[in-house]
Amino acid sequence: MLYSQIIGQTEPKLHLAKMVREERVPHALLFSGKEGCGNLPAALAFAQHLYCSDKKENGPCGVCLSCNKVSKLIHPDLHFVFPIAKNKEVKSSNDLLKEFREAFLQNPYLTLNGWFSEISAENKQPIIPVEESNDILRKLSYTSYEGSYKIMLIWQPEKMNAESANKLLKILEEPPEKTIFILVANHPEQLLATILSRVQLIQFYDCSEKEISEALMEQFNVSSEVASQTAMLAHGSYSEAMSLLNENEESISFLSNFQSFMRLALRFDCGKALQWVEENAVTGRERQKQFLQYALEVFRDCLMYNYGAKDLVRLSGQERQFLEKFAPFVNQKNYERLVEEFNSNYYYIERNANPKILFTDLLLTTNELINLK
Ligand SMILES: [Zn+2]
Repeated sequence: MLYSQIIGQTEPKLHLAKMVREERVPHALLFSGKEGCGNLPAALAFAQHLYCSDKKENGPCGVCLSCNKVSKLIHPDLHFVFPIAKNKEVKSSNDLLKEFREAFLQNPYLTLNGWFSEISAENKQPIIPVEESNDILRKLSYTSYEGSYKIMLIWQPEKMNAESANKLLKILEEPPEKTIFILVANHPEQLLATILSRVQLIQFYDCSEKEISEALMEQFNVSSEVASQTAMLAHGSYSEAMSLLNENEESISFLSNFQSFMRLALRFDCGKALQWVEENAVTGRERQKQFLQYALEVFRDCLMYNYGAKDLVRLSGQERQFLEKFAPFVNQKNYERLVEEFNSNYYYIERNANPKILFTDLLLTTNELINLK
């Protein structure tokens, strides 16, 4: 993994490279950031940089033997700890190392949900049990194979239970020599304050919509419209963007769907309305939520557009053209209620409401609201 393979994150990447270059690497670091922002692949790139035998100014060489081993997650001094679903066969990360390697290599922007679906444990509680801390101690007691650092990469340390976290704290308080702990966390506020005080924070940022959409176009060869629509819904997480794209492989057609909805809302046609409801009732909960969320984004942009804050309008291309025509229908009288309606429907969909009833009602209410002059 090279720093260049991580989307955005210019500042933390430069900071990490500088630490390695100046040989001032603290014994414990916390890579903190939203899930899917790139803190996990960055931890691997950083480990690779530390082990690289031909370090470059701003990162690892990517071709030496050490780089090779790290990028395959088989460097003998690089250890991984991650949440598991405990059962008779699985007691610690060690028991799932092979599966973890495969999942990570397939998608370095791995999420906890993604990982748990890989190991068919969707409904289980992710945990880093106390056995893990014993394992960490055991691994650290070995001398390093290749004579340099030992690295302990702990993904989602917030999933440690109290006992496990206290043991980790003891280790961090008396760190073994030439050992580097990299904690990759999404919710550092859930960690013990005493652990937080022992680690150096490296803050990762939400990816920008521009960074996400450019990466999607390059990696998945999607059109700029699909890329920017997806980026808008991903809220700074590249993992989220990729999963949105997957879910909508049949081509993202939020815009045309929204247009049909609004045409019906403007000029109600019972037959066509029922057809729209039928079609949208079977797309699945996630897709329905995305539709509602998309509508909320459009309303927001309409308001910005109407108030003359055109630089704050995020839609572009075909969507922008639509927006310019549609914006006059969103006004002071209906904006708040539209937002309220779409928001509450989002809430009900999440709680398994019947989509047919819900969309029919929404269409009727929108019809009333959108025709308010
Ligand atoms: Zn190298």
